[in-house]
Amino acid sequence: MNNLNKKENLNEGTVTSPTVLNEEETVKDEKNIGSSNEVTNTTDSEGKSAVNDPTALVMHHMTKEHVLDVMSVPSYSRVEYRMTAYIMLWARQHNIDYDFDKRGNIYLTKGTLEEGEFYPCVTSHLDTVQDGQVPYAETGTRLNIKERINAKNQHEIYVDGMGIGGDCRAGITICLALIEKFDKIKACFFLEEEMGMLGSKELDVDWFNDVGYVIGYDSPELNRAAYRCSQKLLFTRQFFVDHIQNICKKWGLTVFNSEPITDVVQIREKTDITCMNFGNGGYQAHSHTEYCVLEDMDNACGMGEEIITHLGCNKYVCNGQDEYTPKEGETAMSTDAFYDKVAGRQTYNYYGNGYNTGYGRSYSGGNGSGNTGSTVYASTQTKSAADIALDKAMLENISKTYEKYIENIKDDIKKRCELNNIDYDAIFANVFDTEITF
Ligand SMILES: [Zn+2]
Repeated sequence: MNNLNKKENLNEGTVTSPTVLNEEETVKDEKNIGSSNEVTNTTDSEGKSAVNDPTALVMHHMTKEHVLDVMSVPSYSRVEYRMTAYIMLWARQHNIDYDFDKRGNIYLTKGTLEEGEFYPCVTSHLDTVQDGQVPYAETGTRLNIKERINAKNQHEIYVDGMGIGGDCRAGITICLALIEKFDKIKACFFLEEEMGMLGSKELDVDWFNDVGYVIGYDSPELNRAAYRCSQKLLFTRQFFVDHIQNICKKWGLTVFNSEPITDVVQIREKTDITCMNFGNGGYQAHSHTEYCVLEDMDNACGMGEEIITHLGCNKYVCNGQDEYTPKEGETAMSTDAFYDKVAGRQTYNYYGNGYNTGYGRSYSGGNGSGNTGSTVYASTQTKSAADIALDKAMLENISKTYEKYIENIKDDIKKRCELNNIDYDAIFANVFDTEITF
């Protein structure tokens, strides 16, 4: 799947920015920080110093610019093509190999392994449940991300009128930042997780042959992770105790749950690879008020960096059995009892807010199919050779497909704006006056 010549060709300069959306169509708003170019480390957006001002933003592991750049790319189940294109262009810009499987899930590979080594791998999903983001995705308009400071002086980012899509774009943000930090690392990003892991159910098993372990970022909040998903054990207790328990504790992660579904379940089912799934700093997932905390996203990234540094390029096997040899004097206990005791396992009402995610939509786009994501992917998948990833024609092809699709979607977007209380006239009316570029 890897093409050794790829890196040379990547520098042709055809792609200058990972920004896939038409900047001119970005909503101009004083509070719009989505287009900010500022890199924030020890000062906040107003230049406040962390030393003098408790409300100043301090981030250590990612830049605010990176977070806002990824977080403002709109996506929704089956309308993920903006996010996919963003990752594709990001990979090209960073000289990182990428590939697709037949389904259209995207895979990134950075660096070459020595004999006996395995790649660390990070993962997240491309879709969100936020149907308010559909008009933004279809018109190539960036989300208007706003920022507020909470009672703990943390910086929350949100989008008016809809959830920000931290589930799972916060995960993508963290994964991309982690890729930059390591010489040898893989990443996979899946379609349609929110519709029942439809993308990862068709993952490319062979791609995982040289993967040593997988870290997913599809848990909301920060002090929250899964040791089991859909009844599948993600890692052995021995692995937890030997390798990650202390690091997690150090970063404040003590709550390990048995969670519902996420893509790493599919990886665990189809391989013998140890998987983890950590919090990504997003809150109120699957609701209109979903937001992310910049400091928590930053922490999640920092913990991931330390775990990957510790685990290295090795393989950690998990066959589904909770293998563990109790230390001297330690009483044997069940897996659940163990996490109850050592990690304060809790049960969350994850989907309990009554928010209709809109999957029952009878949505048909301008091309009559309504399944825009698949249409776009299908057009790229007919040429599956590794070289295609480099082929300028591929971008042109996607662009053409997309433009064809967008021709008659105006009415649909109007309807969707009405449904979601989005001001169509203020945000999208003139989008159709100009040529929409991909
Ligand atoms: Zn998710």
